[in-house]
Amino acid sequence: MKSETTNWKSPGELEVLPLSLLNDFLYCSRRAALKLVEGWRSANEHTVRGTIVHDHADLSGYEVVKGVTLHRALPIWSERLGLSGKCDIVEQWSHGALVPVEFKLGRRREWDNDNAQLCAQALCLEEMFGCEIPSGAIFHVASKRRREVVFDAPLPNKTEEAASSLHAMLGAKQMPLAVFKPACEECSLYEICLPRGTKDPQRANRLAREALMSD
Ligand code: SF4
Repeated sequence: MKSETTNWKSPGELEVLPLSLLNDFLYCSRRAALKLVEGWRSANEHTVRGTIVHDHADLSGYEVVKGVTLHRALPIWSERLGLSGKCDIVEQWSHGALVPVEFKLGRRREWDNDNAQLCAQALCLEEMFGCEIPSGAIFHVASKRRREVVFDAPLPNKTEEAASSLHAMLGAKQMPLAVFKPACEECSLYEICLPRGTKDPQRANRLAREALMSD
């Protein structure tokens, strides 16, 4: 896959961040900051079910099915992007092609942040093994459907830019303001973030005082 992003620090200069944080960052930059800077990992129905789904894919090892080697929970990293994580599955085909497969909770549907997370996995594998990975797949657990994701323009550039922006946001040491949006309704950090209150500093202070007085 080809990308045109060039403004990268040298390998080794970037702090290595969890690759899954890229998905959070594209969902909401404040969510990524709350998770990493503040260490919040609050769970809701979606994240608990998601963790159960990933637990099955987290048993590392490999097996061969119909001539394809399936590597489970393969550790991956990219010095260039400053990311590391695990691939749920990497398929290794007999002609040498590698195909990352990510398990997602829920029915078949397309989310840009899921595609970027998968693309980042492919960029890591390309850097690690010096190969080219043109596509990957997302397996939607609820519908048991597999969706192919082709890593053509602009996805690789958008993925690299998102990784760069994530590093820049954390480097700036500024917590993004909460902006209420439809995605907040399903966010596991809703109760911590208080997006209806914290976008207005005066209201946020009042909520904080009320929370203190109710202790
Ligand atoms: S509640 Fe909304 S603003 Fe707050 S972290 Fe979640 S998505 Fe972002």
